[in-house]
Amino acid sequence: MATIGFIGLGNMGLPMASNLVKAGHEVLGFDTSPTILEAASDEKIITCLTASDAAAEAEVLITMLPNGEILLSVMEEILPVTPKGALLIDCSTVDVDSAKAFHAHASAKGLGSIDAPVSGGIGGAQAGTLTFMIGGSEADCKRAEPYLDIMGGKQVRCGEGSAGQAAKICNNMLLATTMIGVGEAFSLGKKLGLEPQALYDVMSTSSGSCWSINTYCPVPGVGPTSPADNDYKPGFASSLMIKDASLAQIAADASGQATPMGSRALELYKEFAAQSGEDLDFSGIITWLENLERG
Ligand code: NAD
Repeated sequence: MATIGFIGLGNMGLPMASNLVKAGHEVLGFDTSPTILEAASDEKIITCLTASDAAAEAEVLITMLPNGEILLSVMEEILPVTPKGALLIDCSTVDVDSAKAFHAHASAKGLGSIDAPVSGGIGGAQAGTLTFMIGGSEADCKRAEPYLDIMGGKQVRCGEGSAGQAAKICNNMLLATTMIGVGEAFSLGKKLGLEPQALYDVMSTSSGSCWSINTYCPVPGVGPTSPADNDYKPGFASSLMIKDASLAQIAADASGQATPMGSRALELYKEFAAQSGEDLDFSGIITWLENLERG
């Protein structure tokens, strides 16, 4: 069994680290929040006073942090003490440039590294069914496999370093646009006198079908249970969708690729959040779309 350092024990990190403990690994955890460290202790995670303490004995070091800036500042702190040959696994969602810097810093210290952002949300983290989108060498991905297997149900190697982050933001930019499309279709259907259930029965089995309808239908009482059935309690908060859609636009700017739907989707989520707050599930945008007047 391995000694694993785990830095960032928030909504996602704590259940992921807890699953590693349940599988028999020794997990040394650090988070800047004392309350979270108390909760981690209840999960049999050995809590540390600094990120360096969590890293100093680690064979594998996992980070699950809010953004690229924080990831790189944590890297700066831990790299001098991380044992030679350790494998760094960053599961945070960060911008592509920060992911590249993460790999460069690790490689300069002779450490293995993969970027492995996740899909599946808090429920997936608790159930150990996350999907990992991975960037890194084949050898590092192979080494990470047994640990990712405990925390997730599926691993897709997307390419070399930072490819996981690239895939994550492309996927979430698509999700941002499909959820708005689904919200618009149901809103127009309502105005045309259609029952949402009838429209669901058509769209979920026709050419418009997609995850945003079939798995995460934004209309209460229609389709499988989703945040719509729980007053749009997340799920996946609008703040996180705005973060990911913004990362996609940063990458689009840097690469020179036009993404007219992606950039408009970001504007619409910002308008929705300005009115309803950032804490509602992103699928709640349907409630805002329904009230939009045609200009
Ligand atoms: P969170 O805010 O609940 O957790 C982040 C944790 O990092 C917090 O507990 C915070 O105290 C800690 N932290 C901040 N700075 C730190 C530092 N310098 N050292 C140590 N700890 C520090 O966020 P989350 O929902 O757990 O998300 C974590 C990452 O996963 C984010 O990058 C997010 O975009 C991504 N993600 C989240 C979801 C989701 O549904 N919540 C889904 C997919 C991906």
